[in-house]
Amino acid sequence: MQCNKCGNIAVYFNKISGVALCKKCFMKSIEEKVRWTIGKYGLFEWNDHILLAVSGGKDSLVMMKIIAEIEREFPQSTLIAVTIDEGIKNYREIGLKLAKKYAEKFGVEHEIYSFKKFYGYSLSEIVEKAYEKKLPHHPCTYCGVLRRKLLNVKGKELGATKIATAHNLDDEAQTILMNILRGDVERLIRLLRAENTKIPGFIPRVKPMQLIPESELALYAYYSNIELYSVDCPYSHTSLRDEIRRFLNIFEKKHPGAKYSIYSSFRKISQKLAKNMVEIEFKRCKYCGEPTTRELCRACELLEQLGLI
Ligand code: SF4
Ligand code: ZN
Ligand code: ZN
Repeated sequence: MQCNKCGNIAVYFNKISGVALCKKCFMKSIEEKVRWTIGKYGLFEWNDHILLAVSGGKDSLVMMKIIAEIEREFPQSTLIAVTIDEGIKNYREIGLKLAKKYAEKFGVEHEIYSFKKFYGYSLSEIVEKAYEKKLPHHPCTYCGVLRRKLLNVKGKELGATKIATAHNLDDEAQTILMNILRGDVERLIRLLRAENTKIPGFIPRVKPMQLIPESELALYAYYSNIELYSVDCPYSHTSLRDEIRRFLNIFEKKHPGAKYSIYSSFRKISQKLAKNMVEIEFKRCKYCGEPTTRELCRACELLEQLGLI
C-alpha cells in the first residue's frame, strides 16, 4: 500500500477515512492534529507558562516531545515537566526514570514531587489505611484526587498558567462512559469547564492529545524511539476504567469510530448544557486553602476520612 500524501510505502491505514500514510507523513499528521487541537480549543496563549504533567508513560512522553517542538516557536512561553511520584511500589520508579531521561533529551526542565513528601504518606500506605478502615474508595480515587491537588499547588508555586495532561481519545471516551454509568452529569460538564476556567487559585487544565487514539500514540512513540514500559500499575486491573477500556476496545473493533462518536457527542451536548448551568460558587478549603465548592476540598476530605489530617 502507498502513502496517499507522498507515494512512499504506507505503514498506517485508517479504516474510517481510508487514508494510508508512510512513517514521515503519519508522524506529521499526529503533530498537525495536536496543533489543530490547540488552535481550535484555544488551549494555549503565546505567553503561557505551561506545566506538562509527565508520568513517564508513552502518551506523556509523546506530548512532551511534540509540545517542546511547538513551544520553541513561542519564545515568550515557558515549559516545565512535572512528574508526580505517588509512591506505587515496583511501578512508579520506571516512569520516573523515563520522564527524567526524555525531559533531558527534549530539553525540558523537569521536577519531581512526591505524595510522601507533600502529604506524609505514599499511595501504597494510603491504600493500606483505607483497607484497614474498610473505606469504599478505589486506589485510583485517592491517586487521581491527590495528584490533581499536588499538581495545582506546585503549579502555582512554579508560576504555571496552564497544566497540560496527555489524556488521549480513549481516555476521554472512557471518562465520559464512566461518568454516565455513575449518573454524574455535573462532573461530565465540569470536564469541559476545566478548560480555560477562571476560578481563582485553580490552574486551567488542557488536553492537547484529546483527539488522538491511544493506538496512534503508541505507533508515534514507536517511530520516535520512545521506550515503552510494559509494567501496569498494580491497582489498574480492579478499576471501573479498566473494564470500560476493555469494553470500548472490543466495541471499536466491531464499530470503527465509536470512541470518537462518544467523545464528539459529549462535547456537543455538554457545550449546550453548560450554557444553562448556574455558575458554581467557589470557596477556600478550610484546611489547605485550595478552591472548592464545599467546606473541604476533596483531597482533604479523603485524608480526613483516613485520619491522616
Ligand atoms: Fe493511580 Fe489508578 Fe493510574 Fe495506578 S491506575 S497510577 S492507582 S490512577
Ligand atoms: Zn508519505
Ligand atoms: Zn483542602
